[in-house]
Amino acid sequence: MRKPKIAVIGSSSMDLVVTSKRRPGAGETVLGESFETVPGGKGANQAVAAARLGADVYMIGRVGEDAYGEAILNNFKSNGVQTDYVEPVTHERSGTAHIILAEGDNSIVVVKGANDHVTSAYVKEKRDFIETCDLVMIQQEVPEETVIETAQLCYELGVPLLLNPAPAREIPKRVVEQVSYLTPNEHEAALLFHGEELATVLKKHPNKLFITEGAAGVRYFDGKEEVLVPSFPVEPIDTTGAGDTFNAAFGTAIAEGMDLKESLRFANRAASLSVTGFGAQGGMPGREEVERGLA
Ligand code: ATP
Repeated sequence: MRKPKIAVIGSSSMDLVVTSKRRPGAGETVLGESFETVPGGKGANQAVAAARLGADVYMIGRVGEDAYGEAILNNFKSNGVQTDYVEPVTHERSGTAHIILAEGDNSIVVVKGANDHVTSAYVKEKRDFIETCDLVMIQQEVPEETVIETAQLCYELGVPLLLNPAPAREIPKRVVEQVSYLTPNEHEAALLFHGEELATVLKKHPNKLFITEGAAGVRYFDGKEEVLVPSFPVEPIDTTGAGDTFNAAFGTAIAEGMDLKESLRFANRAASLSVTGFGAQGGMPGREEVERGLA
């Protein structure tokens, strides 16, 4: 089968993770137990997951002129993600997430850095390339205007766009109309559709709106009835990156030409496997593992 060609427009960052027994209060210093740097960012996570699942993936993103930028690029390369369209921003830092894991919970400060330079102008420069793709994927860790203009561009070019509206942010109606696939979790869906009953909202967007419901799976309206495609039972270890794996797998399957229901099953299988490993990218499965799990 021909590898589908997917462009992922989005964020890439380095997660700086500290574990500590206690979270410091204002003005306080505590001693931590460990420190790790882990590549992350929703865009990068989805690009890496799709590449592991066998898609031909081109990241459209930006890094800073720093050591993290180099590390982010190396991580793409070692996962088989094409980096021709990941351009460094001069005098800017790479995006970072500063994470404290303490007392069984996390506190996170995100600094957008170079990700703020994934502008609509930057995307539009790649118009000729985007036109050759089977599918484009985007999330919301890039400026809002980039999402709006990408939806317009893909609509004009006739290239299907999968918008994962995470983190939660309101979206203009026109964008919802222009995208091919929209994949909020329940919390994001509630914000997006202003608390309107989700059954009603699903009905208004047949075969376009897919609401993920964690361990339960994913819900959509197929034109006749509401369908819940159940996920697979697993012992979850770390659910970070479940959404990113779900989107990458769904996008890969769609771009390969699988039908909707088959694509959602494939996405559930990949995402359920991802929660059995540590970290966002750490748990992302390869193609064979997903197919074995579907057999
Ligand atoms: P996250 O923010 O943790 O990455 P999310 O909130 O964006 O995830 P969820 O709806 O929690 O999205 O999960 C996305 C998909 O991942 C689900 O539709 C399902 O396929 C899979 N999934 C998540 N948690 C589990 C679980 N505990 N068991 C099996 N599958 C799961």
